[in-house]
Parts: sequence; structure tokens; C-alpha cells
Amino acid sequence: MTVKTRPGLLLIISSPSGAGKSTLCSHLRREEGDRLWTSVSATTRERRKNEVEGQDYYFVSHDKFQRMQKGGEFLEHAEVFGNFYGTPGEPVEKRLNAGIDVLFDIDWQGAQQIRSNAEDARVISIFILPPSMAALEHRLRHRAQDSEETVQFRMSRAHEEISHWEDYDYVLVNDDLDACFKRLHAILTAERVRAEKEYAIKDLAISLIKK
Ligand code: 5GP
Repeated sequence: MTVKTRPGLLLIISSPSGAGKSTLCSHLRREEGDRLWTSVSATTRERRKNEVEGQDYYFVSHDKFQRMQKGGEFLEHAEVFGNFYGTPGEPVEKRLNAGIDVLFDIDWQGAQQIRSNAEDARVISIFILPPSMAALEHRLRHRAQDSEETVQFRMSRAHEEISHWEDYDYVLVNDDLDACFKRLHAILTAERVRAEKEYAIKDLAISLIKK
């Protein structure tokens, strides 16, 4: 009997900037290796010093972004903090069809678009909350990636991002990174088991009760 591979899951993680989402995502990547592929977005934002083209983002001009958008290349796209961000669809489809789960670090607008366009695909969305606004501001200031003006702007946008928490399947409070990571990983594991119910587990169960 050939067992059909289940299609990959779409795992969306959103949070206000500074809530620790990037760290959680990189821990998950390290833990999961080839079983989880991270979607690389295109953005018109300027590259930060520590960022690598094609790994963190595809840094593109406004013109190129518009061409990609008009060409229907994006699974979703949104304007965030005055910059444009979009998820190229083709590489995602390729992974999902090969049974590889895909991780998306995108905002609430992108999460909403992916949920409504998903059709049969299994979308799991997780929102990361900071324990307090003071903790969020402290993290934004201490990661020293952005100017004071950007920190203030991101703080002012945090309220809006957080206001969408209820649309998510799971909400985690990142008050302790290790504990939060464990819960995040547990969600992925449980959702994989749930997805297998319609594939390998179904085939096994049917074969077990066949007379
Ligand atoms: P940053 O500029 O700090 O890397 O990201 C700013 C925000 O944009 C983050 O909340 C991040 O999750 C979101 N973002 C990154 N890529 C995408 C994307 O392709 N689509 C959407 N909708 N949001 C994105």
C-alpha cells in the first residue's frame, strides 16, 4: 500500500515588533531542519546591517515590487510601517506539495489574506504577545537595530497589531523565551499529528480494521 504524503502545513506567526518573534522562529528553524521551510518575503524596506539578501528578505525596489504584485506573484502582500512586504507564492506551493511545512513571519493583514485564500490547505496561526508594553519598548530599544524615531513609530503601531490577537488560533505570551518556545513547538507537533489523521493514520486505521 502506498501512503499518500500529507500536504505541508502553513504556520503563521505574527506579533508586534520586539515581542521575540524572530528569535522564536529561528529556534524553530534550528530544531526542525528540513521539515520546516521559512518563507522569504520580498520587501521595499532598506536592508539592516545584519540581514542577508535571499535569506532574511529579497530586498526589491518599489518598481520591482509593483511588477511582482501585478504579475500575481504574491500569495499575500501588505504595507507595514510605510514599506511593502509580500510573500512569493511559487516557492511556498512547491514546499507544500512536497509535504514540507512552511513558516510565515508576517503581519495580521497577511495572515488574514492567507486564511481567506487557503482553500483546502491547513493554516495554523499563532500570535505572540509581549508581557507588557514596557517590556516591548525595552526590547525594541535594546536590540539597537533601529533609530529612536523608528522605535517610537513601531511602538505606536504595536497597539494596532495586538488588536488583531483574537483572529489567531493560538496566542502565546513571551514572558520567558524557553517556555514560550516549548509551547510553540508543542503546537506544531500537535497540529502535525492532527493533519496526519487524514493521511498515514487513516490508511493505517483502515488497514487495521479490514477483515
Ligand atoms: P521587519 O521590517 O521588522 O522585518 O518586519 C516588519 C513587519 O512586517 C513584521 O511584523 C513582519 O512580520 C511583517 N512582514 C514581513 N514580511 C511580510 C510579508 O511578506 N507580508 C506581510 N503581510 N507582513 C510581513
